[in-house]
Order: sequence, then structure tokens, then C-alpha cells
Amino acid sequence: MEKYIVVQKFGGSSVANIERIQNVARRVMETKNKNNHLVVVVSALGDTTDDLEAMALKLSSNPPDREMDMLMSTGEQISCALLSIAINALGHKAISFTGGQVGIRTDNTHTKARIETIDAKRIKKALDENKIVIVAGYQGVTDDDDITTLGRGGSDLTAVALAKTLNARVCEIFTDVKGIYTTDPRIVPEAKKIETIIFDEMLEMASLGAQVMQARSIEVAKRFNIPLHVRSSFSKEEGTMIVKENEKVEEVAVRGITCNKAEAKITICAVPDKPGVASKIFTELAKAGINVDMIVQNVSHTKLTDISFTVPDAVFNKAITATKKISHKIGAGEVLSDENIARVSIVGSGMRSHSGIAAKMFQTLAENKINIDMISTSEISISCIINYKFTDKAIKALHKKFNLGNS
Ligand code: ADP
Ligand code: ASP
Ligand code: MG
Repeated sequence: MEKYIVVQKFGGSSVANIERIQNVARRVMETKNKNNHLVVVVSALGDTTDDLEAMALKLSSNPPDREMDMLMSTGEQISCALLSIAINALGHKAISFTGGQVGIRTDNTHTKARIETIDAKRIKKALDENKIVIVAGYQGVTDDDDITTLGRGGSDLTAVALAKTLNARVCEIFTDVKGIYTTDPRIVPEAKKIETIIFDEMLEMASLGAQVMQARSIEVAKRFNIPLHVRSSFSKEEGTMIVKENEKVEEVAVRGITCNKAEAKITICAVPDKPGVASKIFTELAKAGINVDMIVQNVSHTKLTDISFTVPDAVFNKAITATKKISHKIGAGEVLSDENIARVSIVGSGMRSHSGIAAKMFQTLAENKINIDMISTSEISISCIINYKFTDKAIKALHKKFNLGNS
């Protein structure tokens, strides 16, 4: 019988302690015993990555990116070795590898590197020797053999990229929830597991804050049409299939609701309203490596206008410094900021053909006395910036209004 390659990825909470590592080892062996070739990608144990980052930030407020990658990549090296030890202890041959050892080559954008090539020779050799291959997620190496990481949540990307390279039959993402839900089940316990979701909706949800899948991994899965099965490490239940557009997916206007609390708002007041000003501001911010998100420019009645935009919390200090410099250069006024904001978004490809969705969202927030600070839309999403203390309230209300829960 022909053997198929299966790629399975286990997230940090799935390998958080010895019992859970043993649980994963048993589960992996069940798959292997079905006569598959098996490649397993693991994340770092529990909160290891956060803990490592916190330690570095105690030593420096601005640690070098290269050194952060040296540090942060170690978490996955521990978990892949431990899982291999656990599987060997259960009597099956397994071998662990770092990203570099299995030929995952990246560019040199430390902390958010892009995978350029994967030379899977070493994996294939180990599979031919009937070994279960365990790969450390979230990492690769540059052409100079410097270790890089693939952005937070990057083990998802390692799994998808390996599934593509190895032409795997299945790519399963095991996590601590039973699949993709209509919203974060930690915020709304009535959230419903979605059976099937299309890449575009998942990409939008991930980009707008649903941390359950890394956005870039969905981009790659979409580009190469690699269906993903997101499911629980702790149950045998089927999870959620993430598939391409024309598969049979239930038609709804709103598929899910997401939030992102890790954003901050910056406003430049009294900006001269003349051609080239916005270009100057955002060129300078881009040069400083700052990814600006939602942008709002007010209509000017006085030849002066205000421009607000949001940035990820992680670059807030850098963004404020850069914005103050630019504001001075272009003769604008004060620079204001607000770190206490959150973005709540509704996502659904059905929005293209349903009207009144935006109005319903704004009405729901109004009914709950939640002020909307900024609004942005895409073809398949609507986002509002609100005060972060109302995030959970907004999510719960919207989830109910759009009838997304288990009734
Ligand atoms: P892992 O360590 O397995 O990669 P993550 O912590 O990255 O797991 O992602 C899983 C978490 O994502 C869940 O525990 C859940 O709280 C959160 N989450 C946010 N939005 C959603 C959603 N729409 N569906 C499922 N989980 C979600
Ligand atoms: N351990 C890394 C992180 O926490 C990668 C991952 O879990 O996917 O971001
Ligand atoms: Mg994750």
C-alpha cells in the first residue's frame, strides 16, 4: 500500500507539560500506525516564547533582532527534542530537527523572516528509514547560517510550508480549542465551531486578531491550495476545515468576529491641508519600519486637518518618536496618542452580497453605549476602533446580534 505523508502541528498549550507531551506522543503514534509517513511540527512548551521575550526585555528595551531570534528559537528546540524522546520511549523511532537542519532557508528579516526555500532531503531520508520526523516550528536559517524566526505563531507557517514541500496529503493543526469558532471561545462561551471556512475569511480573521492561526500561514495555504484541518489535541472530534472558495460552504453574511487589543492610535493635529503632506508622513513612518494600519483624515474647513492612524503596540514608542519628528518638519501641531484602544471586526465573504451589515454593527455598538472612534472596511470585513475596556462587551453583543452562537 502506498504511504502518504501527513503533517501535524501541535501548538504550545498542546505540549505545555510532560503529560501533554506524552499525550501528543501517543496521538502521533496512532497516526503513524495507520501506515503513514509522519512529520510533526511543534511549538515551544506553553508560554516559553513569551517568557524568553520577557527576559530579554528585562535586559534591554531594544534588543538586537538577531539575538532575539537566537533566543526565541530555542523554545522549539526543547519541545522537538522532548517529543522525540517521548516517542522513542514508547517504542517508535523518531528524530528531531531544527528548522536549519531540515533545510528551511529564509531571508534575513530577523523576527519575521520569510521562507525562501526548503530542501527536504533530510526529512525524506528519515521518513524512508521509517522514523517519525519532529521539526522545531517557527524558525529557519539564512544563507549565512544565522537563525531566524518566522513571526509569532510561526509554527503554523512551518507546518504549511512543509506540507507544500512534501506534497503532504493532510495538514492538521492541533490546538487547545476544537477548531475555528465564530469568535474567541474564551470571550464568548456560546461561540460555535465552524465546520468549513474559506481561506479568505480565515486570512481576514487572522489578520484582524484571531490568534488561532498565523495570518501568513493562511496566505501560503491559500496560494498553494493546501486545505488545513484545525482541531483539538485533547479530543478526537473533527475540527474546522479551511478550504478554497468554491468548496461547499454555508452562505452567511458574517462568519466571525475578532478583536485586537494590541493597537494604539496616534493623531497629528493641525496638519496643513495641501498636496504631498500625507505622503511625507507615511513615507517617513515606513522608512522607520513602522507598519501603519487604519488611517483617518478629517475633512478640513480651515486649511488645517487632523490625521489619525493606528500602529501595533509593539512599535508604539518608535512610532511616536518618528511622528513627532515628522509633525515638526511639516509644520503640523500637537501629536496625541491613545494606547487604550481596541479594534473589533466582523468578517464574512457573504458581506459582498448582503446589505445593511455595517448599519447593524454600528447600531449594536450604539445600543451598548460604545463610542466608535474610527471605522475601516474591506470587501469582507468591517472594523471599528473603540475604547479597549468595552472590547468583550462589544464582541458579545455583536455575536448575539448576528446570531452566530449556539442557540
Ligand atoms: P497554539 O498554541 O495551539 O498555536 P494559540 O494560542 O496560538 O494556540 O491559538 C489558540 C487560541 O486562539 C485559543 O485558545 C483561543 O482562545 C484563541 N482564539 C481566538 N479567536 C479564535 C477563534 N475565532 N476560534 C478559535 N480560537 C480562537
Ligand atoms: N512559539 C512561537 C510563538 O509563541 C511560535 C508558535 O507558537 O507558533 O509565537
Ligand atoms: Mg498559535
